[in-house]
Amino acid sequence: MTADEHRYDTGTQGEGAGLRDTLARHDALLGLSAGLAAALLGAGSLDRTIDAALAGLGRGTGVDRVYLFERLASNGTDRLVCTQTHEWVAEGIEPQIDNPALKALDMDAVYPRFVALLKRGQAVSGDIDAFSPDERALLDPQGIVSILVVPVLLDDRLWGFLGLDSVRHARTWTTVEQDVLKLLAASLGAALQRRRAEAGLRRAARVFESTRDGLIVANLDGTIVDVNPALERTCGYHRSVLLGQSWKTLLAEVPAQAGLDQRVALALRDDGHWQGECLIRHGDGSLVQQWLSASLIPGDDGRPAQFVAVTTDVSALKESESRLDFLAHHDSLTRLPNRRRAQVELAEAIARTRGTGGRVAVLFLDLDRFKQINDSLGHPVGDEVLAEVVGRLRGRLRGNDLLARYGGDEFLVLLEGIHGADEAVAVARELSDCLRPPIDRPGGALHVTASVGISLFPDHGDDAESLVREADLAMYRAKQSGRDRVFLYTEEMAQAVQHTLRLERRLRDALARGDLALHYQPRLALAGNRINGAEALLRVDDGDGGLLPTGEVIRLAEALGLIVPIGRWLVDEACRQMRAWDEAGLPPLPVSVNVSAAQFYDDDLAGTIDAALARHGLAADRLEVELTETVLFDRPAQAVEVLAGLRERGVGAALDDFGTGYSSLSYLMRFPVERLKIDHVFVASLLDDERATAIAAAMVSLGHRLGLRMVAEGVETSRQLALLRGLGFDEAQGYLIGRPQPAADFAGLLAGA
Ligand code: C2E
Ligand code: CA
Ligand code: CA
Repeated sequence: MTADEHRYDTGTQGEGAGLRDTLARHDALLGLSAGLAAALLGAGSLDRTIDAALAGLGRGTGVDRVYLFERLASNGTDRLVCTQTHEWVAEGIEPQIDNPALKALDMDAVYPRFVALLKRGQAVSGDIDAFSPDERALLDPQGIVSILVVPVLLDDRLWGFLGLDSVRHARTWTTVEQDVLKLLAASLGAALQRRRAEAGLRRAARVFESTRDGLIVANLDGTIVDVNPALERTCGYHRSVLLGQSWKTLLAEVPAQAGLDQRVALALRDDGHWQGECLIRHGDGSLVQQWLSASLIPGDDGRPAQFVAVTTDVSALKESESRLDFLAHHDSLTRLPNRRRAQVELAEAIARTRGTGGRVAVLFLDLDRFKQINDSLGHPVGDEVLAEVVGRLRGRLRGNDLLARYGGDEFLVLLEGIHGADEAVAVARELSDCLRPPIDRPGGALHVTASVGISLFPDHGDDAESLVREADLAMYRAKQSGRDRVFLYTEEMAQAVQHTLRLERRLRDALARGDLALHYQPRLALAGNRINGAEALLRVDDGDGGLLPTGEVIRLAEALGLIVPIGRWLVDEACRQMRAWDEAGLPPLPVSVNVSAAQFYDDDLAGTIDAALARHGLAADRLEVELTETVLFDRPAQAVEVLAGLRERGVGAALDDFGTGYSSLSYLMRFPVERLKIDHVFVASLLDDERATAIAAAMVSLGHRLGLRMVAEGVETSRQLALLRGLGFDEAQGYLIGRPQPAADFAGLLAGA
C-alpha cells in the first residue's frame, strides 16, 4: 500500500504534514480559546477561571509556562508597572510567580520595545537569542528559549499581558495563533476590568468612583436612590428622572428578561449577590447589552438595607467572543464550516429528522492524490485547487445542503430530507463528476478526482459521530479500490473496523507497556553457505504471551501515524543490538530494517540513521534499509534523492517484495539499490510453474547485469533452495534457513555457525 492509498496518510505527510499540523494546531487553539472566553464570561471565581485558562493554554499549546501580568492600579503616573498575578508551569518547570525580580516590574524601564509593541496591540514573539542583552537579563535566568507575549488590551488601554514561555524547546507562533491569543487576551482584559469594578465597590460601596461602569444604588424594594454619571450615559436618562423609580424600569421589556428583577431580588436575599447579562432600554429606544453585577450593601447596623448594581459594557467582550466563535467554527482558507461545526450541524439534522421517516446522508469526500499536488506544485497551488473544488461543489449543492471542510483535503456534505441511498449516491456521483473537468492553470491543467463514502441516518447509525466514521470508512474503501469512486457504507465494513479498533487498542497498550521487540531472520549467502546478514522484523507482544500479527500492526501503525516513532526506535534498537553482538565477539553482520513510506519520505531517515550509528559506534555499512516498490513509486524523484543520500553515507538499500507489484526491472534501474528481494509468493510458485522459473532466470540475469544482488525470500524447502541455486540467486532467506527469532536465539545461531 502506498502512503497515498491510505486515507489517514493523506495530508499527514510531506508538505501536507506541515499544513495538517498547523491546521490542527489552529483548530485546537481556537476551540480552546473559544471555551476559555466563554468561561471568562461565566459567573465562577475569576481567579480560578484564569488559572484554569492558563493551564488549558499551556497544555494545549505545549509551552512550559503561561502567565498573566496585570498592571498595578495607576499611581498617578502613566508608567506601566506590572506584576505577575497568575501562573501555570508544566511539570518540572520552575515557577516564577514568587520571583522578586518580576514583582512590580517597571515595564517602561526594562522592556521599552515590548511596551511600544504591546501598546499598539502587537505581540512580541521569538527566540530569545534574537533579543537584546538587556531584554535577556530577566529571561535567561528563567531558562527561557522562546517567548510569546500578547497584550491584554481593552479600549486601547493596556491592562497587562499574557506570556507563554518555552523552556525546553523553542516554539514558533503563526500569525493566526497570535491573533487568537490576542482575542483571548481581550476577553481576559474585559473580565479583569469587570472584577476591578466589583472589587472597588466592595471597598467603598457608597463612593462613586469615576468609573466608566454604571452604578445603581437601590433600596431592597428596588427603588433607585442613586446613580452615577456613567449610568446616566448608559441608559440615556438624567439622574433626576431615575431617582425614586424602580430599577426594573431600566430593563428592556423582552421575554427573556421577564421577572428578572424578582430573580435578582431573590438571589440577593439568598446569596447576597447576583450577576449576569441584561438588556437595558436606552432613552433613544435602542437596546444596550450590559453585564450586571448586584451586591447587598450592609447598612450602619450591619444589616443589608440597600444593594448596588454595577453595569459593565460587555460588547467588547461579546465581540471578541463571537469572533473567536466564528474562527473556531469556520475554516480560514475556504470560509466553510469546519469539522466541529459540521458535527454540530449533523447532530441537529439528525434531531430534526428522527421519527419523521426521513433520512440524512453524510458524504465524506476526499480528494485523490491531493498530497502530490501540494508536494510538487506547492501550497499556494494546493490552496487554489481547494478553492476551485469548493466553488464547484457549492455549485452542485442545494441551498440547504451543508458543505464543510473536514480536514486538509476532506470535505463533508450533509443532505437532509433525502429518501434513500440511491438519491445520496446520485448526488455523490454528481459531485465527483463536477470535479472532473480539468482546472486550468498557467502551469498546465490539473486533474482532480475524489473518493466519496456515504452513510445514512437512520440506516447506518444513530449519532453524528458514528455516521461520520462510517462515511469516512466507506471513503477509505473507495480509495482502496482504486480511487475516484463512490462507496456506500456496509455492515461488513463495520466488522473490519471493529477488528481494527481492537487491534489499535492492543497496539496502543503494547506501546504504553513498551512491549516492542525486534526478531532477526538470517540471510544466507549461497556462494559460501554462510549467514551474511539478518533482517530485523518488528514483534509486538499482545500482553497475553502471544504476538500481534506483524503485517496488520505495520499497516495500522502507518495509518495511525505511529510508524514514524516506532521506526525511529527500531533503527536505534537494531544498532544497539548489533553493537551488543559485536561486544560479545560475534562476527559483525549487517542488519536490514524495513522502512515505511512515512519514515522514508517525511521523517529525517538519514538523520535518524546517522544518530543511531554514531550512538552505538557502528560503521554505516552495517545498516541496510528495505523498501517496497510501492513506496519507491509513490514519489520516484524524491525516492532517488533519499536513496542517493543513504548510498553516500554507505548505508545499503534493498528493494523488497519484488514480483508483487509493478516489477519492471528496467524501471527499477533508476533507483540506487544494492539488493533485489524476490517475494516469497513468487518463490513458492517456482516449483510448479515452468513459466515462473523462466521469468526468475531472466530476472536473475537482468539483475546481475544491473549489479544487483538477488535474494529469494520465503525459502521453506531444500528443493526450493536447490532450484534457486541453479537459477543463480545470490542469497536466500526463509524458514528453511532460519525463522525470525529473538536476538538471544539469533546470537546462538551465529555462534554455532
Ligand atoms: P517482509 O519485509 O517481506 O518480511 C518477511 C516476512 O516474511 C516476515 O513476516 C517473515 O516473518 C516472513 N517470512 C520469513 N521467512 C518465511 C518463510 O519461509 N515462509 C513464510 N511463509 N514467511 C516467511 P512478518 O515478520 O510478519 O512481517 C510482515 C511484513 O511486515 C514484512 O514483510 C514487512 O513488510 C513488514 N514489517 C515487519 N517488520 C517491520 C518493521 O520493523 N518496519 C516496517 N516498516 N515494516 C515491517
Ligand atoms: Ca523485508
Ligand atoms: Ca519481503
